[in-house]
Amino acid sequence: MSKTAGGKKSCSFCGSSEGVANYLIEGNNCYICLDCLKNLHDAIFSPEFLKSKSFELGKTRIPTPPEIKQQLDQYVIGQDYTKKVIAVSVYNHYKRIAYHYSHQDVDIQKSNVLMIGPTGTGKTLIARTLAKILDVPFAISDATTLTEAGYVGEDVENVITRLLQSCDFNVKEAEKGIVYIDEIDKISRLSENRSITRDVSGEGVQQALLRLVEGTIANIPPQGGRKHPEQQFITVDTSKILFICGGTFDGIENIISRHIGKNKLGFQKSESDLHYSTSFFPESDQKFGIRAYVEQDDFIKYGIIPEFVGRFPVIAPLEDLDKDMMKEILLKPRDALLKQYIELGNMEGVELVFTDQAIEKICQIAVNKKIGARGLRSIVEQTMMEIMYELPILRKEKNLSKCVITEEVVEKKQTPQFHYTKKASGE
Ligand code: ADP
Repeated sequence: MSKTAGGKKSCSFCGSSEGVANYLIEGNNCYICLDCLKNLHDAIFSPEFLKSKSFELGKTRIPTPPEIKQQLDQYVIGQDYTKKVIAVSVYNHYKRIAYHYSHQDVDIQKSNVLMIGPTGTGKTLIARTLAKILDVPFAISDATTLTEAGYVGEDVENVITRLLQSCDFNVKEAEKGIVYIDEIDKISRLSENRSITRDVSGEGVQQALLRLVEGTIANIPPQGGRKHPEQQFITVDTSKILFICGGTFDGIENIISRHIGKNKLGFQKSESDLHYSTSFFPESDQKFGIRAYVEQDDFIKYGIIPEFVGRFPVIAPLEDLDKDMMKEILLKPRDALLKQYIELGNMEGVELVFTDQAIEKICQIAVNKKIGARGLRSIVEQTMMEIMYELPILRKEKNLSKCVITEEVVEKKQTPQFHYTKKASGE
């Protein structure tokens, strides 16, 4: 292993023993000589390797953008443009981290992502699924709970505390994690949504977050909460953490339409004004509405400070969910809500059937509520509560075999159609 019979240290890779011309670096019960170290380095960072579609660093293989998108597709319905943008930026982000090990002098610009879209359209879901796919630590924070130092509320460092908690305080892991900050629009300078009990300016929070987002050595209180002088801190380098922010940016449409209008006066609005390529996504204009034209400048006018916007080179607008997409959300993802109910029924020995009209009705109610797919769960749960309550008893006592949920069950809370199988004589 690491020591020869004579008790001399030797390289665990090539076996050469330590000497004046053979310096060994010691690891955990093993050694590596400089020749082997150089060979390993050359192999990992060879141009062929870096140019290859995907590459491995240690045990971690970084999936290619199409692979990331494909996996996102299993959980997130629609939002094709956003999924592609994010797949590319995440791939580049992790590639840059790997590249950095061999080119310390190259400055890595992070591809932090700013998502803009209506509530319940999948912003958090995309970020969460991404972390799952990449198997990296992930934490969600709400920007409205954060305050600048000295005010009641959470220090911005708590965003990193959560990340540390998600990986059992393994700092190295956390430094490669993903942080999702929701409701970022609510800390705009102009936002009226700040708490009335706290005189906190959104700008102060943005400034405090800026340091973390652009990369700093942060002192993190392990328990979260407020920092105090006697506390032990954990030091975390945030330069490789990917930050994804999301917000609805209500009212930004007015700002966007002003700049589109201005362009129209001077020169024709061209395809390059769009945030996406219309030839690639021919129907996008209707789906995204005016959000498709959002530019960094619009966020600044909305009250996000320029330095903060500048740290988010990737802007990803999300589309509105229509009734058909809602239907897919109910039925298609691996963890689709109706699939789960049907499976629960199967486990009980009862076939649960949702008629097309019932599904239509659920989706229509959700669309009317204007809270995106978030409404689906509560509608389905309200519909199913009584049924799931009685199912085990009906199965046991009356041999229930099939339960059909119709439109009337959803809309008027009527009793579903129950089908019973006659028990064989002697049972
Ligand atoms: P937000 O955009 O407000 O962050 P979320 O991602 O939290 O919305 O969505 C709320 C819930 O709605 C998710 O947990 C998921 O169940 C469902 N959902 C929303 N959008 C989608 C989508 N595009 N595909 C599949 N499920 C979705």
